[in-house]
Amino acid sequence: MSDRMSELVKTLNNYAYHYYVLDNPIVSDKEYDALYDELTALEKSLNITLADSPTLRVGGDILKGFKKYTHKKRLYSLDKCQTKEELKKWTEKILAAYGAVRFTVEYKFDGLSVNLFYKDGLLQTAATRGNGTVGEDVTAQIKTVKTVPLKIPFSGECEVQGEVIMRKSALAEYNEKNPQDPLKNERNAAAGAVRNLDPKVTAGRKLDVIVYGVGYISEENFNTEKSFKNGGIEPRIPGEKSALKSNIKDDAEARITSEKDTEKNIENDGAEQRKTIGSKGVKARKITGQDAEKNIENGGTESRIFTTQTGMIEFLKNNGFKTADYFKTAETSAALAAEITEIEARRESLDYLIDGAVIKVDDLNIRAELGYTEKFPRYAVAYKFEAEEAATVLRDVVWQVSRTGKLNPLAVLDPVELAGVTVSRATLSNFSEIKRKDIRINSRVFVRRSNDVIPEITGIAEHFADSVPVEPPLVCPSCGGELRADSVFIYCLNKTDCRGVIVSKLSHYASRGAMDIEGLSEKTIEAFYDGLNVRSIADLYRLDFDGLTALDGFRDKKARNIIDAIERSKNAGLADFIYALGIENVGKKAAKELAANFKSMEGMERASRAEIEGIRDFGEVTASCVYDFFRNEKNLKEIGEIFSLGVKLKNYESKPGRTGVFSGKNVVLTGTLERYKRSEAKEMIESLGGETSDAVTLKVNLVVAGADAGNKLEKAKKLGIEIISETEFQKMIENGKRG
Ligand code: NAD
Repeated sequence: MSDRMSELVKTLNNYAYHYYVLDNPIVSDKEYDALYDELTALEKSLNITLADSPTLRVGGDILKGFKKYTHKKRLYSLDKCQTKEELKKWTEKILAAYGAVRFTVEYKFDGLSVNLFYKDGLLQTAATRGNGTVGEDVTAQIKTVKTVPLKIPFSGECEVQGEVIMRKSALAEYNEKNPQDPLKNERNAAAGAVRNLDPKVTAGRKLDVIVYGVGYISEENFNTEKSFKNGGIEPRIPGEKSALKSNIKDDAEARITSEKDTEKNIENDGAEQRKTIGSKGVKARKITGQDAEKNIENGGTESRIFTTQTGMIEFLKNNGFKTADYFKTAETSAALAAEITEIEARRESLDYLIDGAVIKVDDLNIRAELGYTEKFPRYAVAYKFEAEEAATVLRDVVWQVSRTGKLNPLAVLDPVELAGVTVSRATLSNFSEIKRKDIRINSRVFVRRSNDVIPEITGIAEHFADSVPVEPPLVCPSCGGELRADSVFIYCLNKTDCRGVIVSKLSHYASRGAMDIEGLSEKTIEAFYDGLNVRSIADLYRLDFDGLTALDGFRDKKARNIIDAIERSKNAGLADFIYALGIENVGKKAAKELAANFKSMEGMERASRAEIEGIRDFGEVTASCVYDFFRNEKNLKEIGEIFSLGVKLKNYESKPGRTGVFSGKNVVLTGTLERYKRSEAKEMIESLGGETSDAVTLKVNLVVAGADAGNKLEKAKKLGIEIISETEFQKMIENGKRG
């Protein structure tokens, strides 16, 4: 035994305690997994495993205060792989032993496992996974979750396994309503709510349970007719009844769902099963696509009710459970890899956290043969995505002045690898958020980075003895001027000559999407501020070649390029110019709307508050910002100056009205579209006469709901707006194109 091994065991057990028992992890999953992998490798190389090693255990200890529930069938963890190469190896080992095998692909939900026990059609107990054998009885808590049926058509005994999750939209809504006590992340919020003794807390979190399996099922008293009549859910598969009956008679062989068999599987554990996969001479049954279909058609199975994962999911659906919107099958490692690539691309747009995909052997008979290790089933593997969250130490908070004078706190971090890049800076939103999250300098914080979004600090992992609170600035860090704080933000009041405000305002003006002046980076603008006394947008148009070349580092070519780029910007479009002005709350979309509605700068200046408020998606606040901007003498003077220096905007030209199947329709796209990119779908709608919106309001009259649509779909239902699926949407487009 090595010192390192006992150290790893101790550290991992402590981390697992915070994660499983307290629902309040102190390190990221990425760090935990790295140490866990190190321990596994060490155990393998030394051939020693300590009795309290986490590699032998599933989950954590049972919380006091909850009754215990002994699972009828043990719950397992999942073995994991992280590369397509590893997945290929896993798949091919099974394919080598069995010939053809069908695999299923499911989302790996990042929540808390739950086991639901039903008897006589009623939910009897809901329990956490606990240590796999015994869990906490959280029936009262789970009963508050609306997606868990309290009554199901199936009247025998069964244990249904699923994941309790909190949707991203539910967490955002909760945090908006509870700013003083925000939730850190969806997984911990869901786990904490379920393992809270007060069911009211659970109810307040608006959780969901998505089920993915049946662990135990009693088949003796399974009576389809009665079962389905009870719950009023019709069997979806024609001929299911008779097939089920004949199955019950015929087949005794491969029930993996009965307790006895389960025990056998656990006992058999390692050796024998491993041999099965490894040896070539095993009874390599070919499971063809047709066989699998037959099984599903039978509704049912050799294990009497279902013989496949696919059949199991059908059974769950038929009994009124919420299953995942995504479920695929594949027969080769290449097809599995392709599915995984697609899921990964979609991951961000889903309304819930997934941390990977679960690949399972579809056929339950093969599963029974493969069996289990101490901790994992051998018939399934979790393909884990790259972590999006890491923990690191916050070293400092610096305050950056924005173009509106607002001070934005920026976290300076010990560099940490995250989703393929090294992160050393992250946003912290505002001072009130820093206080709410109790962010302190020298503490370990969680930082999250998804896609190309700027990394953000999501919460505190751990405070240390030298942790100190973040102090708000007393004067502007850029100009030393006076500050004003409202309930959320801090502002520099010196908007006329604060260097930070001016540099940030000019950088925005020159940025891509605004006037797009190539070469005018923030650093260049700082040099112009310091060396050429540039203080306003108009000053940019006063720059000349000689002035620029007099500055350090500005050779002829660079100076010429910048002067040319500034010159070209004089013929910008109206919408780009409005956006470039940096009016508070006016992004690109709002600028486009303003240009389309008021057609010229004169039109903008004349617009009344009511007219601005009448624009689609404009709220009172944005309308006020726009109205006030064009009533401000200084702003009007600056715009006048800009024009006198040669800026001539291209006037707004409305595109000729297009007609088509979407004419008169304001369409919202929500959820994941599998056949179209968002931008593509929007273009199609516009080219066929429609308009698109991002929010569901009464002005919207059609919602296209893709997979996993969340809040917007709910809202559309409430407002009685017409909802169509992606397939119906595709049909409309095809008809539209023909017509
Ligand atoms: P796991 O969460 O990686 O995988 C097993 C679980 O996946 C199952 O119990 C089930 O609840 C869930 N699951 C989700 N979707 C599923 C689906 N479609 N089909 C089947 N199961 C599905 O394993 P685990 O043993 O629960 O936890 C280990 C992981 O937890 C570690 O890899 C680590 O990332 C994390 N962890 C983190 C810390 C920490 O301090 N940050 C501590 C302990 C564990």
